[in-house]
Amino acid sequence: MEREVRVRFAPSPTGPLHIGGVRTALYNYLLARKLGGKMLLRIEDTDQNRFVPGAEDYIRQSLEWCGIELDESPWNGGPHAPYRQSERKPMYLQYAQQLIDSGHAYYAFDTPEELDAMRARLTAAKVPNPQYNSITRAQMRNSLTLPAEEVKQLLESGAPYVIRLKVPRKEEVRFNDLIRGWVVVHSSSIDDKVLMKSDGMPTYHLANIVDDHLMEITHVIRGEEWLPSAPLHVLLYRYLGWEDTMPQFAHLPLLLKPDGTGKLSKRDGDRLGFPVFPLEWHGKDAETGAPTVSSGYRESGYLPEAFINFLAFLGWNPGSQQELFTMSELIEAFSIERVSKSPARFDQNKVRWYNEQYLRAKPDAELAQYLTESLQGQGVEMPTSKAEQIAALVKERATFPADLAREAQLFFQRPATYDEQVISKKWNAQVAGALKEFAGQLRATPDTSPDGIKALLTQVLETQGLKIGQVLQALRVAVTGAAAGPDLMHIMSILGAEETAERINQAVAQLPAA
Ligand code: GLU
Repeated sequence: MEREVRVRFAPSPTGPLHIGGVRTALYNYLLARKLGGKMLLRIEDTDQNRFVPGAEDYIRQSLEWCGIELDESPWNGGPHAPYRQSERKPMYLQYAQQLIDSGHAYYAFDTPEELDAMRARLTAAKVPNPQYNSITRAQMRNSLTLPAEEVKQLLESGAPYVIRLKVPRKEEVRFNDLIRGWVVVHSSSIDDKVLMKSDGMPTYHLANIVDDHLMEITHVIRGEEWLPSAPLHVLLYRYLGWEDTMPQFAHLPLLLKPDGTGKLSKRDGDRLGFPVFPLEWHGKDAETGAPTVSSGYRESGYLPEAFINFLAFLGWNPGSQQELFTMSELIEAFSIERVSKSPARFDQNKVRWYNEQYLRAKPDAELAQYLTESLQGQGVEMPTSKAEQIAALVKERATFPADLAREAQLFFQRPATYDEQVISKKWNAQVAGALKEFAGQLRATPDTSPDGIKALLTQVLETQGLKIGQVLQALRVAVTGAAAGPDLMHIMSILGAEETAERINQAVAQLPAA
């Protein structure tokens, strides 16, 4: 029988989730939904020293904001609860014991000083990568080197110990990564990893494999930084007798800095001028402990749909020209086969572009809502119909919702200054006279639609012997003060005949017409 597809996102609550982590969650989610499977979230908090308060809540809120839904999690439970490893602590020892009993793991009693001395010795002997492994374990204090009686005594006396995996000296470990193809690693490069720590907590490696097995995970989709651990995980599956249900691995490509010079790090964001976190994070400086704030996509005005669409393309493509995808379209189009193995470069212009597309595609009524809310803060009130007209007109010039209010200022403030370049080139007595005439006629015209205004302008200019191209820029500057902006006929139509005429007359009165 085909197994139900089950994937997991397994963050450690050691700080805010970085966009790379969100991408991992997203790809897991897309695959689960595409294949009609389940997506679960497991909190990997076995390393209590690295625990950061608030991180778990941050992870939860980030995924909610992104629209990544979880079928099972510490918050909504599920058939394999609990979903926090610290709450599963009693479950792991039996598996470590099973490995000891089958000869694949052993007790190690070495003190930190003894471990340091071993590394120092190897470093002095110019061993490139000093490790506790199939060679060095023979010189250390463990249940493979000490007499059985002494091991028994040490255990009974409560001496501190760890349990280590006994990695074979000469064996090829291979697995088929869904993104990278066959990965072959020689066991001599793998160290005897600690599986259980002296405080009785499992390490990441043991807990991760035990939980993926118990939670019936079919696909492990995670960042490339976990690729070096994968051969060790394969050995664990084998020694625990679970190889036939071992999940398939897919290691996602790295995310690089915009200039491609290295991995995008948590510190890069505010340094390079864009967020690397989905939500704003209030943390502490690692050295001084002083409060720090790191910017988030949400607070910077990004729409979750745009952020998700952008992230989906950081390492995946649909194989077509289409760039805009809703979440359900992503689910439809997604496949692991189309995830690239080469690193993906972060592109801040692209994420802005996505935001513009999604912002402009929003219904005008929704944009008008943003606009009225932010203008209310400035004490400006206006009817909904006007807010909708303005939003529809200025959205083409907006990247973020907050830009709408900025672009809308021209409707509420008469020009205080006039663009000097345009004035020096385009403003003269003839133009000023024609515009004054236009302002007068505008007040009397019944048709103040953009087309009506344009027709009137053309007609007035004709009687003055001028073409529209000769006055359009001067008129724009007279009405708005600026050399560029949204369509002028629409601006005048929204301002209305009276206000437009007032502005023109103000300009004619203030600007010297040589
Ligand atoms: N807890 C690991 C992390 O923080 C999970 C790695 C994995 O998915 O196996 O990324």
